Amino acid sequence: MPHHDQISPVNKQNPVLVQGAMDVEIETLVDALDNVIEKTFGSWTFWEGQINGYPVVVSRTEIGLANAAAATTLGIEHYKPTFIINQGTAGGHDPKLFRGDIVIGETSFNMGSYKTEHTEKGKGIHPTTWQNFDMTMYLRDNGEVIKHNHFKADPALVQLAMSLSDSYSKGKVVTGVIGTGDEWNRELDRINWFHNTFGTAIEEMETSAAAMVAEAYKIPFVSIRVLSNTDQHGQDFEPQTAIDCQFYVLSVINALIKNL
Ligand code: SAH
Repeated sequence: MPHHDQISPVNKQNPVLVQGAMDVEIETLVDALDNVIEKTFGSWTFWEGQINGYPVVVSRTEIGLANAAAATTLGIEHYKPTFIINQGTAGGHDPKLFRGDIVIGETSFNMGSYKTEHTEKGKGIHPTTWQNFDMTMYLRDNGEVIKHNHFKADPALVQLAMSLSDSYSKGKVVTGVIGTGDEWNRELDRINWFHNTFGTAIEEMETSAAAMVAEAYKIPFVSIRVLSNTDQHGQDFEPQTAIDCQFYVLSVINALIKNL
């Protein structure tokens, strides 16, 4: 096992917050909790419990960036988590990856944020010339304004998640860039354009929004995503991958707890 000296919890009693968008992406995690209490704030549900005696809160964020941001804010304000793990399914961009492979998101960004140059009426629509808007998050503590065009995962959490890769039998475990958008892309030219322009390994709909809120509160964050589908290889959505991903995430949580 590598060293995890950098992992320094704010408070040992504070829980690990682990997120998934859809029921199929959280049910295995909820089943793994002892002494579960379910709470809903607005439309966002949380399951409080323990794993090996350590507090863990599972959050169903619902689908998309706005839901993910809302659920992350609620999760932080209610539970003051020590770490946040976002996880779930994703679509493949990198042709080297297949359904069942897991991507540990070293960085994520809002892939669906665009600005376009002015063109005259009748000159058409040219998506490949659209530029990614820096997804703007302003850190204003010291009067300083910092624009983020991507969010970095906590390096120690990435390292911990990667250290368990040999135990995963359903595919590879790699680090990579996660593109987040309220989109589901299936045009291969578009998928390849994202991969070649931004280096995306996968696309999904929540990570960068959750990462943005975690960054604002300075809470260590990582996203662990399984390819449930990839048009690079004609592989359609397979729900079992969401379950396999949760078992991997449970092993990460167990290792994390052991290290605290
Ligand atoms: N199959 C569902 C819809 C899923 S929406 C239904 O019909 O109700 C997509 C969800 O799965 C999001 O939470 C997103 O994070 C994830 N996802 C998996 N593969 C994706 C892909 N190829 N593109 C975008 N999101 C994807």
